[in-house]
Amino acid sequence: MAFTPLNFTQEQRIFRDQMHRFAEREIAPIADEIDHNDRFPEEIIPKFGELGLIQWSVPAAYGGPEGSLTMLCIAREEIARYSLSLSVMVGENGNGLALPLLFAGSQAQKDKYFPLLAEGKTLVAFALSEPDAGSDAASLSTRAVRDGDDWLITGNKTYVTCGPVADYVLVFARTNDAPRAKGISAFIVDTTLPGVARGSKNRKMGYNGATPNCDFFFDQVRVPAEAMVGGDGEGFAVAMKCMEFNRPAMAASAIGIAQGALEAAVAFAKERRQFGKAIAEFQGLQFMMADMAMQIEATRALLYEVAARYDAGEMDGYGGLAASVKCLASDAAMKVTTDAVQILGGAGYMKEHSVERMMRDAKVTQIFEGTNQIQRMLVARDLLT
Ligand SMILES: Cc1cc2nc3c(=O)[nH]c(=O)nc-3n(C[C@H](O)[C@H](O)[C@H](O)COP(=O)(O)OP(=O)(O)OC[C@H]3O[C@@H](n4cnc5c(N)ncnc54)[C@H](O)[C@@H]3O)c2cc1C
Repeated sequence: MAFTPLNFTQEQRIFRDQMHRFAEREIAPIADEIDHNDRFPEEIIPKFGELGLIQWSVPAAYGGPEGSLTMLCIAREEIARYSLSLSVMVGENGNGLALPLLFAGSQAQKDKYFPLLAEGKTLVAFALSEPDAGSDAASLSTRAVRDGDDWLITGNKTYVTCGPVADYVLVFARTNDAPRAKGISAFIVDTTLPGVARGSKNRKMGYNGATPNCDFFFDQVRVPAEAMVGGDGEGFAVAMKCMEFNRPAMAASAIGIAQGALEAAVAFAKERRQFGKAIAEFQGLQFMMADMAMQIEATRALLYEVAARYDAGEMDGYGGLAASVKCLASDAAMKVTTDAVQILGGAGYMKEHSVERMMRDAKVTQIFEGTNQIQRMLVARDLLT
C-alpha cells in the first residue's frame, strides 16, 4: 500500500485498510473481465450498498452514511487501484441526487428521496452535457416549459454516466429567458416516465463495465413543480457545487489507477529478465518508476489536503484547489499508466495485463468532470481575480 497521509485519523486509517482488503477481494477478480465484456456487474451493487458506498452523501438522519469527502476519496482510491469504473460507483448517487438535495433541496424532497437513496439500491445519473454544449455547459438548450402546476421537458443529453441503469436522472434545462447559467434549472426525472428515451449504450475506449453511458432524449416529459431542485434559474449553480465536490473524488480515482499501474509495473520489472538480469536493474526503468512514484505521492498529498479543507468547511480558494488536484491527478494517471505499459513492453500492450486497460481508463479522467483545459481555466481565473 502507498503512504498514508500523516493527518489521517484512526478511523480513516481503519477505513483505508478495510477498503484495501475489499478491493483485493471483490474488485481485483472482476476488474479486467467487466472491461473486456463491457458487463455491468450487478452482483457488486448490493455489496457496495451494504457498505454505504453508493449512497455516500445521504445524511445519517435518513439512515445514510453521511460520509466525508476524505473518506470518499479513500474508498475511491483503493477501489481504483483495480477498477476505475467501479471506483466511480462509490458515491454514485451523490452527484445525481444526494448532493443536489443537500445543497438546494426542499424539506419535502429530502424526506421523499433520502430514505430511498439510503437503501443503497437506487442509481442516479446526472445529465448536464448536450451534443452542442460540453465544456460550455451554460449554453445548453434543453427546455422546460411551465404547464399549469407541471413542467414539460424537451431536449437531448449526451454521454450520461450510468444512464442505461439509472432509476432517476437529474436533468438541467432552460426554464426562463435569462442568459446562459441564470436561465437553467435542475429537475429530478424518473427514467420510467412517458417521453423519456435512452440511446444505445455508448461504445467507449475504456471506463467500461460498471459505468455504462448513453444519451437521453426527453420529449415533453411531464414532471410536477416539486421536481425542481433549487429555485428557477438556480440549477447551474447546483451543478457547479456538485462538480466542485466531485473533482477531488475524481482525482482520487485517478491516483488509484496510477498506483495500481505502478505496482503492476514494479512487480513485472522485478520478474522479467533481459540481458541476463531483471529489467528492474536497468537505471533507465528505475528512473521511470521513480518519476511515477513521485507524481503519485505528490498528488496524493495535495488530494488529502484539499479534501480535508472541504470537510473542515475551509472553502476559501477551494474551487481552484479542487480543479488543480483533478487536473494534476488525471495528468499523472495518464503519464503513469502510459509508462507502466512501456515498462511491460509488448506484454503491456496485451489484454492479459491490466495496465493495458488502466491506460485506456486513465484517459477519461482528463476529460470528464470538466476537461483539463477547463480545470486550468478555473485555476487561472482564481489567480486573476
Ligand atoms: C466517459 C464519459 C462520461 C461522461 N459522463 C457525463 C455525465 O454523467 N454527465 C454529463 O453531463 N456529462 C458527462 N460527460 C460529458 C463530459 O462532461 C464532456 O465530455 C466534457 O465536459 C467535454 O465536453 P465535450 O466532450 O463536448 O468537449 P468540447 O467541449 O467540445 O471540447 C473539445 C476540446 O476543446 C477543449 N476546449 C473547449 N473549450 C475550451 C476553452 N474555452 N479553452 C481551451 N480548450 C477548450 C476541450 O478541453 C477539449 O479538448 C461524460 C463524458 C465522457 C467521455
